[in-house]
Amino acid sequence: MDKTLAHLQELDAADPLRHVRDRFRLPDGAVYLDGNSLGPPPDTAQAHLEQAVTEWRERLIAGWFEAGWAEAPMRVGDRLARLVGASPGEVVVSDSTTVDLYKLIVAALDAQPERRAVVIQPDDFPTDRYVATSLTSRTPGVEVRQVDPDRVSEALDEHVALVLLSHVGYRTGRLLDMRELTRAAHDAGALVLWDLSHSAGALPVDLGACDVDLAAGCTYKFLNGGPGAPAFLYVARRLAGRLGNPIPGWFGHADTFAFAERYAPAAGARRFLTGTPGILGLAALEGALEVWDGVDLRQVREKSSRMGDVLIALIDEACAGRGVTVVSPREAVNRGSQVSISVARAGEVTGRLAERGVVADYRPPDVVRFGLTPLYTRYVDLAAAGEALRSVLDELTARAAP
Ligand SMILES: *Cc1c(COP(=O)(O)O)cnc(C)c1O
Repeated sequence: MDKTLAHLQELDAADPLRHVRDRFRLPDGAVYLDGNSLGPPPDTAQAHLEQAVTEWRERLIAGWFEAGWAEAPMRVGDRLARLVGASPGEVVVSDSTTVDLYKLIVAALDAQPERRAVVIQPDDFPTDRYVATSLTSRTPGVEVRQVDPDRVSEALDEHVALVLLSHVGYRTGRLLDMRELTRAAHDAGALVLWDLSHSAGALPVDLGACDVDLAAGCTYKFLNGGPGAPAFLYVARRLAGRLGNPIPGWFGHADTFAFAERYAPAAGARRFLTGTPGILGLAALEGALEVWDGVDLRQVREKSSRMGDVLIALIDEACAGRGVTVVSPREAVNRGSQVSISVARAGEVTGRLAERGVVADYRPPDVVRFGLTPLYTRYVDLAAAGEALRSVLDELTARAAP
């Protein structure tokens, strides 16, 4: 693997996505390898947000209809649908990922009263485990089975209502086989719910082709929607009519502004809306999604895979013999858009990297995570990260020496 600076500069010059970086204004000199935690604002996100504030001032209450606020969760969902292989009406944007997971897990259990088990991953993102596990004490008979993704099929039987999996693991970046695992769940008669927080906007996702039932994910990571931007949820069209929202509110009603006496669910994923959507957050996200127009996710994936290979090679070189382990899969096909290392004093390493202008993430107890976001990360940034890591390890070793 050629990882000389000259070669990395050549890769940047030949990068078909290099113009997209101009739509982000990153702080000068920043090597931001943390867009998988919080993406930076594209210029269009700020423009849409400012426009929404102007509409709020000028139209006041009339904005709900005249400025399209009432339809925003569906409109933005349709825009996002293309990025995850969904059809119009199958994606809505609302609430947080945690809340959306709750709604979808409960809906899946309610729809299959004869099945009471939910399969989850023991190393999944904490909130996914918390919200799934909480149901065991709240809903009589519900059982949570924690199994490694390699052993999902062993946990599947006629009691399983739902399999909840993260497409890309937040800690190691391991990418699971969506098609295969969805098929395994279906073969056992269970539904499947994919958390796409680390794959939406990071790689091509095809929920339709993989016959996925349910999905949810963040929009503030690879989708750059802004801090706490509303999450998205997906319900396959074939399934929506069978599922009920456990928090049925007026925005999921078939006719929100009729103020009807009784609740009647809207068609499609829209029934999973609950209360009044946060329009300012939706506006920023709607603007942020514009940067994807004309972007081919296969090119994003290709660049991300190559960047991962380069970064792993640079880390191997910078860290040889220093107790650092790459914990992300080394083969790009099994890796999402990040490279994680396990290292002693990982929190301190992350802090010292930041002092050198390289922003990564610390995930306790021992992981430093470098996010790769091909819309604005350059190959030369990886060289800077490798150099910074080498220098931090030098410093820590020198300090530890007697
Ligand atoms: C980031 C992330 C979340 C965050 O959930 P919020 O409700 O938005 O805070 C959930 N699940 C996974 C897998 C994540 O990576």
